[in-house]
Amino acid sequence: MTDTPAQTDKPMFRSDVTVELVKHTAGDSDVLWAARVSTAGEQSLDELSKDPERSKGLINYLMRDRHGSPFEHNSMTFFISAPIFVFREFMRHRVGWSYNEESGRYRQLEPVFYVPGEDRKLVQQGRPGKYEFVQGDPKQHQVVTEAMEDSYRRSYEHYLAMLEAGVAREVARAVLPVGMYSSMYATCNARSLMHFLGLRTQHELAKVPSFPQREIEMVGEKMEQHWATLMPLTYAAFNANGRIAP
Ligand SMILES: Cc1cc2nc3c(=O)[nH]c(=O)nc-3n(C[C@H](O)[C@H](O)[C@H](O)COP(=O)(O)OP(=O)(O)OC[C@H]3O[C@@H](n4cnc5c(N)ncnc54)[C@H](O)[C@@H]3O)c2cc1C
Repeated sequence: MTDTPAQTDKPMFRSDVTVELVKHTAGDSDVLWAARVSTAGEQSLDELSKDPERSKGLINYLMRDRHGSPFEHNSMTFFISAPIFVFREFMRHRVGWSYNEESGRYRQLEPVFYVPGEDRKLVQQGRPGKYEFVQGDPKQHQVVTEAMEDSYRRSYEHYLAMLEAGVAREVARAVLPVGMYSSMYATCNARSLMHFLGLRTQHELAKVPSFPQREIEMVGEKMEQHWATLMPLTYAAFNANGRIAP
């Protein structure tokens, strides 16, 4: 590990998340190949182009009857930039995921902070287990923006003051908030991604509704877009079967 200074000391505020598909070996043919080894040995790599309808039917059958392991023989690596509170939730997903996150011990952390955008619903209504979120009014958006920006600026000033005084980064970072941006590589396969999407996105086709925090859902939606183009038959079968991971 090498020491890296921050590129700027001036706080920046963002309301988005970014997800880049860094590399992948993922296609519907990986599912077919894995499923068919039990009956046809190795001869099914080009199955998809030979008989598309049959391939579609097989993938749908595997999804419907929850034969999950054929969906594991592929890999997608994402580079994700999001607030730390999103990563806290993200890393609860233990199975079929690998993570590497930037270090607050080896580098000075960049002053980039999350402030909800205008379309972020701010107000929670309802009872426990049955909440809904509704738009905040302009005054509430103003309170949120001012409070967050002020708090972030102060925290980062204290962080810099401690570094200036010779305090180690791993100690000084304790004052930094969970709204600060971090970045990580996250590698998964289609099965683990489906499990994640079932829990961390809301979708009209979901048989079992979930109620994720909007910011992790924003990450999930972007990963889903990438995956849908890589594995269109698997993606269609996931939706057709209620978005429940096999
Ligand atoms: C809307 C929402 C609200 C949440 N709120 C909270 C909260 O308030 N507090 C909180 O702590 N967490 C909360 N979580 C996190 C949640 O409890 C899970 O940790 C997270 O969703 C990951 O799910 P998972 O364990 O199924 O995934 P993974 O860790 O990826 O596991 C995948 C599957 O493997 C199996 N598995 C994994 N580990 C074990 C094990 N040790 N024993 C047996 N089977 C295992 C299970 O079948 C599991 O579904 C919330 C999640 C959501 C989606």
